[in-house]
Parts: sequence; C-alpha cells; structure tokens
Amino acid sequence: MTTFCNDILNGKVALVTGGATGIGKEIARTLGRHGARLCIASRKQENLEAASKEFESEGLECMWVPCDVREADQVEHVVRETVRRFGGLDILVNNAAGNFPAPITGISYNGFKSIVDIDLRGTYNVTKAAFEATLKEHGGHIVNITAPFEGVGVAMQAHVAAAKSGVDSLTRSCAVEFGPYGIRVNAVAPGAMADTEGMARFSSVAGETEGGSSCPLGYIGAKQDIANAVLFLLSDAAAYVTGQVIAVDGGVSVDMLKLRLPKD
Ligand code: NAP
Repeated sequence: MTTFCNDILNGKVALVTGGATGIGKEIARTLGRHGARLCIASRKQENLEAASKEFESEGLECMWVPCDVREADQVEHVVRETVRRFGGLDILVNNAAGNFPAPITGISYNGFKSIVDIDLRGTYNVTKAAFEATLKEHGGHIVNITAPFEGVGVAMQAHVAAAKSGVDSLTRSCAVEFGPYGIRVNAVAPGAMADTEGMARFSSVAGETEGGSSCPLGYIGAKQDIANAVLFLLSDAAAYVTGQVIAVDGGVSVDMLKLRLPKD
C-alpha cells in the first residue's frame, strides 16, 4: 500500500529496466499496482519470466523482453515491442545497473568500462530510444535510479560513483531538452536498501550497519521507499518537478560529521 490512489497510473505504460529483481522489481510492482501496464527488460530471461509470472498472479499486466542496455539495437527492440503490444510508452524507469565493490587500483580497465557502459551509457541508450520512438510525440516521464554519491568521494565505489554522477548530469540535461515536449526527467538516489543485491555486495566489505542504520533516521531503508519516491515523481503532486535528483537515503548523504546528539 502507498499513500497514492491505486488508479493514478491507469492507462499508462511503463518500461522498467532491471525490473525483474531488487529495487527495479519493487518499482515495477508498485507502478503496476497503481494501474500501469508493465514491460520489464534485462539480460536474464529466467528472472524476467519469473517476475512477470509473479506480477500476473497478482493481477498485473506485464510483458518482458530480454535486453542488454549496452546494446542500442536491443534497446530499440524493447521499446518497439512495448509500443507494439501496449500501443505506446509513457513512463521509463532506468534502473538497470551493475556493481561490485573494489578499490580504485583493484578495478580492472574492463570492469570500470563495464559499469560506465551499463549505468551511464545504458541509461542514455534507453532514454534516446524511448524519446525518439514515442515520448516526444505525447510527453511522459523518465526516472533514473542513481546513487547519493554526487559531490562526495566514495571508497570502493569509484567506478559506480563516476557512472552515477554522469546519470545525475544526464538527468538534468534531459530535463532541459525534453521539458518543452512535456517530459519530466528526474532521478531517485537510494541509500543502502535492505534485501537488495546492491546492499548484499556492499555489506560484504563495509559491514551490515555501515551506511544504513548509521544514517540520521537510524534504520536501513526498504525497496518500497524507492518505489514510493518514483511514484511521487510520476504523480501530479510532482507536476512542476523536473531535473532533480532526490536522495532517499535516511539522510546519510548530508550527514558530514555523523554526530548524534542525545535526545531531550
Ligand atoms: P540488482 O537487483 O542487481 O538490479 C540490477 C538489475 O539490473 C538486475 O535486474 C539486472 O538484471 C539488471 N542489469 C544489470 N546489467 C544489465 C545490462 N547490461 N542490461 C540490462 N539489465 C541489466 O540491484 P539493486 O540493488 O536492486 O539495484 C537497483 C538500482 O538501485 C541500481 O540502479 C543501483 O545502482 C541502485 N542502487 C541500489 C542501492 C542498494 O542499496 N541496493 C543503493 C544505491 C543505488 P540482469 O542480470 O537480468 O541483466
């Protein structure tokens, strides 16, 4: 359940990359529960099939198309198939991303390239394909899932931080160029979210509590918190919001000194 009426996305079609697992799956489910017809796309067919079946068992309408967001022809195929099946596309959530924790000297040349290719170039590829094929005709929404890394240095995540800072920048540029087409472009930057692949990988090196329960709000966020923020951005409540990166991280990204004062 969310605070929004469950019909606010009725008649809308949403493409969620990486929508078969983790945060992307929760976003897709939440958009579906609020009326959107779904297309989920990523590389692993078995995950796509399983998630799609799960959604359908919950009464949601979902198609899936295997796709590597690094490949422009595959990305264009996904957009074409979505429009062919559902008659259009209104919402794009660029969630697909790679991640592995490593110090700068421990990242291979190819590993760095791979993260930039998936996170940044992948976001660009799907955005361009969706804009040209359909969004520019009738407007819509793009929400990029990034990370709260801009303006700070992040140990073990130099490759991800570089790629996601590029995504943040792309979000703002797309908002500027696409605004006249009636397209709002925003980003959501999750902190450490419980029960996710990203958190599992990072906590293997940082410890379960770092970056999560040590945040000002004092607890690790849930995937639903991210889905709720995406839903807000898609709703009329955010009608005048574009080009923004909204951190949903319990305040960790603004907490410089990490001092906790005793409560009165
Ligand atoms: P996840 O479950 O590993 O999700 C990543 C998704 O991206 C997977 O479904 C994966 O599917 C897909 N993907 C990876 N490479 C792809 C490619 N080349 N082409 C198409 N799809 C690809 O991770 P998550 O933790 O939920 O993360 C979701 C998003 O939140 C990411 O953008 C991540 O950077 C961001 N984030 C997460 C956290 C966190 O705490 N979890 C924190 C900050 C930011 P396939 O393997 O099937 O391709």
